[in-house]
Amino acid sequence: MAVVKADAYGHGLKYLWSYLARDVDGMAIARVSEAVYLRELGYKGIVLALSGFDDGDDLQAIDEYKLQTVIHHPRQVALLMKTTLKHPLTVWLKIETGMHRLGLEAAEVDAAYHQIKAHPQVENVILMTHFASSESKDVTLTQKQIDAFGRIIAPYSEPCSLSNSAGILAWPKARQQWVRPGLMMYGGSPFTPAEKQPVLQPVMRLTAPVKAIRTLQAGDAVGYGGTFVAKGSMTIAVVGVGYGDGYPRALPNGTPMWLNAKMVKTVGRVSMDSVMVDISDHDNVAVGQRAVLWGPELAVETVAEYAKTDPRELLCKMVMHRIERKIIGDNNVEHH
Ligand SMILES: *Cc1c(COP(=O)(O)O)cnc(C)c1O
Repeated sequence: MAVVKADAYGHGLKYLWSYLARDVDGMAIARVSEAVYLRELGYKGIVLALSGFDDGDDLQAIDEYKLQTVIHHPRQVALLMKTTLKHPLTVWLKIETGMHRLGLEAAEVDAAYHQIKAHPQVENVILMTHFASSESKDVTLTQKQIDAFGRIIAPYSEPCSLSNSAGILAWPKARQQWVRPGLMMYGGSPFTPAEKQPVLQPVMRLTAPVKAIRTLQAGDAVGYGGTFVAKGSMTIAVVGVGYGDGYPRALPNGTPMWLNAKMVKTVGRVSMDSVMVDISDHDNVAVGQRAVLWGPELAVETVAEYAKTDPRELLCKMVMHRIERKIIGDNNVEHH
């Protein structure tokens, strides 16, 4: 089950869905509205709405577009029970085991399960849970979640689903019937950059052009707020990407960027449309060359560490419509 929420982690669902469709058994997306969008793009396979329905309108859409739904709350069970559906429905019953976000409490599961099974249009029930820290070196919580899930589902013989990317990579015994890869499917790693498996090849390469090159003298300050001041004479390049494109303003001086076969470092604050890099030690930079913000040459996980965030957040923010997307080869989308 390919997880494609937040516009396929910022890659653009309309570009990727047909490539993904060749290799997966279904796609999971957060909201009913997103699931309807995926149907309208033309995907005919299994589409699961991970946060389920909030009201009768959502439930009608699930029925009309033949979506599958998560049920994580007794209120949803009650709403389903008083609704007549036109099509057979598959329900993913989400069980709380340690994340404390969405999911039925252990004590609520049995009643919900039997009610749902008794609904005339419910065809299948799949039992699921979600890990809170399966990427962590501390394995205690994930082990507890697996144990709790095993205890709660023991009375039922339904297919199960536990694992996100880190669960798939680090917890083979939690693979079960359905897995739900998100980040790893786009070639991102839930672990630290140093622990990244080479098999994870980034799908997205984000690039931006060098707009200008200038020389600075000692004492010259760079960018808004002058957070970087030249210690001696130096050369910088202005790269045409900024927080208005999703390149975070929080990135500090010294963030790496790949420019004409060499790693360079940012100087000064990221502005809305541009950012500066130190090219004093780089003889081969010219206006018009494209810098790589992240991609195969520079892992998005590394940039995420500098921004003190998660690679998913950086990728998701690539939903900005002013970023031009170019599909290169069968499986690559280039972002400018
Ligand atoms: C987002 C999500 C996933 C995918 O998570 P990754 O860590 O990106 O692989 C899987 N399952 C659920 C329920 C999710 O919300």
